[in-house]
Amino acid sequence: FTRLKDGLRRSTGKISDGITGIFTRSKLDDDTLEALEELLISADLGVTTATRLTEALAQDRYDKDITDEEVRRFLAREVGAILSPVAKPLTVNSGHKPHVILMAGVNGAGKTTTIGKLAKRFKQEGKSVMLAAGDTFRAAAIEQLQIWGQRVGVPVVAKPTGSDAAALAYEAVDSAVAQGVDVLLIDTAGRLQNRAELMAELAKVVRVIGKKVEGAPHDTLLVLDATTGQNAVHQVEVFQDMASISGLVMTKLDGSAKGGVLVAIADKFGLPVHAIGVGEAVEDLAAFDPDEFAEALVG
Ligand code: GDP
Repeated sequence: FTRLKDGLRRSTGKISDGITGIFTRSKLDDDTLEALEELLISADLGVTTATRLTEALAQDRYDKDITDEEVRRFLAREVGAILSPVAKPLTVNSGHKPHVILMAGVNGAGKTTTIGKLAKRFKQEGKSVMLAAGDTFRAAAIEQLQIWGQRVGVPVVAKPTGSDAAALAYEAVDSAVAQGVDVLLIDTAGRLQNRAELMAELAKVVRVIGKKVEGAPHDTLLVLDATTGQNAVHQVEVFQDMASISGLVMTKLDGSAKGGVLVAIADKFGLPVHAIGVGEAVEDLAAFDPDEFAEALVG
């Protein structure tokens, strides 16, 4: 929690100080409401959510005296209520061996790092884990995943750069089945510049692994970088078009002033948020606690 609170300080500072600036000796009138709405939009909560929150406050307290602290409490409660339904820990109990998790997201979002962190977590829970370097397009992505595999102590299935991603995924699933592995995490490419090609590749990976293990992939997680702000909203739309996204992980919430985008995304899509990244180290994957997050965000 401290880590998240430290990390979100830039978002918190912005909203919290902004509220104080608006509501010092103030009544809730059109001007203060408009200023509050603008503040929430600038903190990346998105226009729809910012408007709805502001309207809810108006309904409650219009034309009455209100303190900055009361506004913060109100927002913390409302944001918590938006986030609560989407906060869902990642469970790997499909009953299948392996439980297959496909990891999607644009390059640099933190996919590889999140795979490493999740692998460590599952291993600590006593599960056997295997990784597949499915971003066969980038040599650096393959190497990074191999480094994570060594660090965490789990096997990594990899092929040379330029290999067919679906063939690699098939090989990994085959090997995981043969070895009775509990959880298989498959990395995927994130080159959005060539969307049609990426979409075809993802579809092929899904088709191939579904043939080998019933219901696979059992989870398709989209990794989003909090520092990209509103762009993350767009990424959810794009990836939902390309694959059947079952849940989200938001990274880089340490030190981002744009953490509010998670509220916009929760409000808009209602997709489960399974975990949050709060640093680069292996232990820096936190469970997503809606009330803690809301409080850390608005101060
Ligand atoms: P990928 O291209 O999606 O696989 O992204 P990587 O996993 O390689 O991550 C890109 C960069 O973001 C790396 O420098 C990571 O160390 C960093 N990173 C990933 N997750 C986090 C996080 O939660 N917090 C911070 N501060 N950095 C992160």
